[in-house]
Amino acid sequence: MIRLDDPPNETAPVAPVCPYCGSVNVRIWGQSVRRVQDAQTKQVQTLRYACERCSHTFRIYPRGVDRALHSVRIRRLAALIWLMDLSCRDVEDVFNELGVKLNRMTIWREGVKLVDQLNQQNLLNQTRRISIDKEGDLTHRPTGGVVLVLSLSPGKYSVLGTLNTHDPRAVINWLQPIFKGLDIAVTIFGTTEFTGEVSSYGW
Ligand SMILES: [Zn+2]
Repeated sequence: MIRLDDPPNETAPVAPVCPYCGSVNVRIWGQSVRRVQDAQTKQVQTLRYACERCSHTFRIYPRGVDRALHSVRIRRLAALIWLMDLSCRDVEDVFNELGVKLNRMTIWREGVKLVDQLNQQNLLNQTRRISIDKEGDLTHRPTGGVVLVLSLSPGKYSVLGTLNTHDPRAVINWLQPIFKGLDIAVTIFGTTEFTGEVSSYGW
């Protein structure tokens, strides 16, 4: 099961550094509040700074958020599931069912971005890539592949299908670099061979 972790409570604020000249001599220039779609919609506050040395202004986003309307981890999950052979439409439906609205264009764009990124890390060769067989849902479980379930909030989940592997460790190994630093946990249930949990913290 892939699920979202609660991000750790506010970590100590990082001292802002000017991305243009590296100076730490910056002051707050303004702030803005807007809505970002994570598992739920949440309000985030973005601070804008001005550099005293080079006069550039820049924004510092809260953990897990950037300028996009969806949080980094929601986009990453959508991209991953698309990459595992579900269509943009299927991915849209899965997220909709779990209460998160995503349009197909976003899914496709994020998917292509993820493909590029994984190719650079050589994580997309045929022996490593894991895909979802959409036809193989829970009723096909006796055939043995690992069943992948997505949960965005406690008690709500969606069965994505059966994977093209019987080895939960292969799944963990493949997902780990993709989820690194995103507060997404992968839990393995119901195998006698392997029980483990991999969590990553720190966006
Ligand atoms: Zn500067």
